[in-house]
Amino acid sequence: MTVLWRRLAVRWRGARPFLTALIYLLVLAAPWVGWRVLDWSQAQAYDRLEEQGREHLALYAQALHAEITTFRNVPLVLASDAGVRALLTAGGDAAALSRRLETLNGILGASALYVLNRDGLTLAASNWRDPSGGFVGRRFDFRPYFTAAMAGRVGQYFALGSTSNRPGDYIAVPVRGPEGVVGAVVVKTAMDVLERGWSSRGERVFVSDGHGVIFITNTPSWRYLTRAPLTAATLAAIRASRQYGDAPLHPLPVVAGSRLQTVDGVGYVTVSAPLADGDGWRLSVMLDAAAAQAAGRQTGLLALLSMGLAGLAVYYLSQRSLRRRRQTRELERRVAERTHALTRTNQRLEAEVAERMRAEMELRAKQQELVQAAKLAALGQMSAGMVHELNQPLAALRGFAENARTFLDQNRPQGALDNLGEIVALTERMARITGQLKQFARKSTDSLAAVDLVAAVEGALSMLSGPLRAAGVAVAWAPPPQPLPVWGEDVRLQQVLVNLLRNALDAMGEGGGGRLALTLDLERETATLAVADNGPGLPPDLLPHLFEPFFTTKPAGEGLGLGLSISEGIVRAFGGRLTAAQGAAGGAVFTLCLRRVEE
Ligand code: ADP
Repeated sequence: MTVLWRRLAVRWRGARPFLTALIYLLVLAAPWVGWRVLDWSQAQAYDRLEEQGREHLALYAQALHAEITTFRNVPLVLASDAGVRALLTAGGDAAALSRRLETLNGILGASALYVLNRDGLTLAASNWRDPSGGFVGRRFDFRPYFTAAMAGRVGQYFALGSTSNRPGDYIAVPVRGPEGVVGAVVVKTAMDVLERGWSSRGERVFVSDGHGVIFITNTPSWRYLTRAPLTAATLAAIRASRQYGDAPLHPLPVVAGSRLQTVDGVGYVTVSAPLADGDGWRLSVMLDAAAAQAAGRQTGLLALLSMGLAGLAVYYLSQRSLRRRRQTRELERRVAERTHALTRTNQRLEAEVAERMRAEMELRAKQQELVQAAKLAALGQMSAGMVHELNQPLAALRGFAENARTFLDQNRPQGALDNLGEIVALTERMARITGQLKQFARKSTDSLAAVDLVAAVEGALSMLSGPLRAAGVAVAWAPPPQPLPVWGEDVRLQQVLVNLLRNALDAMGEGGGGRLALTLDLERETATLAVADNGPGLPPDLLPHLFEPFFTTKPAGEGLGLGLSISEGIVRAFGGRLTAAQGAAGGAVFTLCLRRVEE
């Protein structure tokens, strides 16, 4: 179902302009179509009614025909009856004939059966017993049926009974004697039974005569109304014949429409046909169209409603598809935006990464340059220290040599020998200093070896003995009696120690009163050397940055901020640790922990 729906929706998406047009068309056309459908369905209903009316009409006509013809032959038979003839030609027992007629009519069931003489006087009648006296003795020479009979024809006439005041159909047959027509036999058929039968059918049925006067009908109030207004002459003639008594013969108040005749606010579908039985008679059936009208209205309304619903459905569908499309577009837009943003972020990140890599490479190059510079600086410092260390013994050497020469000139060999002894001692000391320089200049190797930590400390101390002495620093150092081998490499270990001592010296300054304590702490596997000074110490905000390359608090040109970072790297390469802390009594404590070499 949903698949079908979606497929339709896809189709509709393409047909949007068409859909919009369709909606407008539906909305605009709805009233017109509703009206047309109403009209059409009403016409259909009227057609059906008409058809039904025609069927009924045929039935009514048949019934009427039967009613009239049932008694038509009765006067024909009686006209040749000997008794009747005798009464009219030779005079006879009229009362006896009346009784005969009464008996006969009792069997037949007609309204009345009677005999007129040539003057139109009733000689005998079936209703002679009526309290009013029946027709006997009454003259009917004014009735057209009598005139017709006297002219030798069978007269037929429908009229309101002048005595009984009951409407009826009169049929008169001439009675012939030897010298022509001597009288007439008349049968009157009342139509009220027939009318009562029609009443039960629930529709208006009537028979009108040649003038359009309604004389048989199942609607008593319509009796003696006319289908159309009568001319004055016709009206006078009808009055004269007393056919319909004193009835005013007003026209039936019909409002004629294209399909409907409206009487007293009720619409009727009318069907009518001429009848063979009377002169110019017409049978009409009027069927109430209210039900048909209602049905038509209902159908029209239904059509209107369905059109409205269809319009609504189409509108809803089109809105839905519109909304879907909007949502899809919005989604696409968002996705595009995100993609774009992602691309931008990616590009920015790539650029950043490239920039960082470039910066890092630059930094590395700089670092290497600086490491090199630091090495050179350290070398410079050391050679300066050496020169300072060697200058003193050199000056002393010169003095001792000059003294020896003077003693030799004065021929005092013992004095010369003493001075030469001093010279030898001095050269030994100088050899020791240069030996250290030689050691420092030696190419460092990456392979670790056992290095004597005690000797390394002694070497560093002696290398900086000049500046330490100059700054008036008291050095506390109690070397253990035997060597302490640790894993490392002698030149670089010495570089670390020189750096630590130089930093302490810088921190304590030249003012004097500096105290430098070097203590050893031995564990089974490690040897820890603590270098403590009484300088300003290490504030807590300084500690985390101490071992970062280029971190320095010294004025520009003096410190490179590389010493500690290089030292830390060296110690780590030895498998050891270099840490810094604030000393318990102020000042800084640097702790160098190295792995011992097992003996
Ligand atoms: P530099 O000596 O060139 O500044 P270092 O890495 O050797 O570089 O030292 C970094 C910084 O650590 C020094 O600038 C100094 O502020 C601090 N520092 C190092 N040793 C000590 C010490 N013994 N007492 C106080 N501060 C020290």
